[in-house]
Amino acid sequence: MEISGISLTGDPRRTDFVRSVLAESDVDTNLCYQCRKCAAGCPVAYAMDLTPTQVIHATRLGQRDLVLRSKTIWLCVSCETCTTRCPQGVDIAKVMDAARITALREGIEPAVPEVAKFHKKAMRSIRRHGRMFELGLLIGLKLGGASGPLTKDMGLGMKMMRKGKLKFLPAFGKARPVKRMIKRAKALAAGKE
Ligand code: SF4
Ligand code: SF4
Repeated sequence: MEISGISLTGDPRRTDFVRSVLAESDVDTNLCYQCRKCAAGCPVAYAMDLTPTQVIHATRLGQRDLVLRSKTIWLCVSCETCTTRCPQGVDIAKVMDAARITALREGIEPAVPEVAKFHKKAMRSIRRHGRMFELGLLIGLKLGGASGPLTKDMGLGMKMMRKGKLKFLPAFGKARPVKRMIKRAKALAAGKE
C-alpha cells in the first residue's frame, strides 16, 4: 500500500498529533499489522479518499495533515464494522472519532463541510434538549444551506411525521442529566476527577 506525500522526521510516536489521537481514543494504532480487513468491510470505503487501513497507518506515522484533512474522517458513519472485524482489536471507529475531535479543536477546515455542520448542530441539539430534536436539526441544516434546498425533502418529512418518526416539539426535561454527563466527561478529560 502506498500513501503519497509522506515525509518522516524524528519519531512519529512523539508527535502532538499521535499523542492527541491516543489521548482521545486510548487506541494503540501500532497494534495494526495492515491486514486490511477493516477496509474490506467498511460500507463507505468506496467514497473515502483514504481507506480505514490507510488512516491507521498514516496516524501511527504521525501524518497529521494527511489524516485531519482527509474526507475519510468525515465520511465514516461510526458503524464499527471495522472495529468488529479487526483481528488485533484496534478500535478504528474510535480513532476516526479522535481524528474528528482533533480536527475541530485545531480549526482545520473539514474536507466534507456538510458532515461537520451536521456534527456540530447534532451535538448542540443534544446539549440543549438531552437528545436529538430531529425536526429542529433538519430546519437548522436547511437554513444553513447544508442539506439542499428548503423544500427538497419536504415529502419525506411529511411521511415521517405521519408515522410519528419526526416530532413537532423537542423532549422536555431531559437536558439536565445530559448536561451533567457532559460536564463530568469534560472534568474527567481535564483530569479534575
Ligand atoms: S483490521 Fe486491524 S490489523 Fe487489519 S488493517 Fe485494519 S486496523 Fe490493521
Ligand atoms: S466505523 Fe467508519 S471506518 Fe469503520 S467500517 Fe464503519 S464507516 Fe467504515
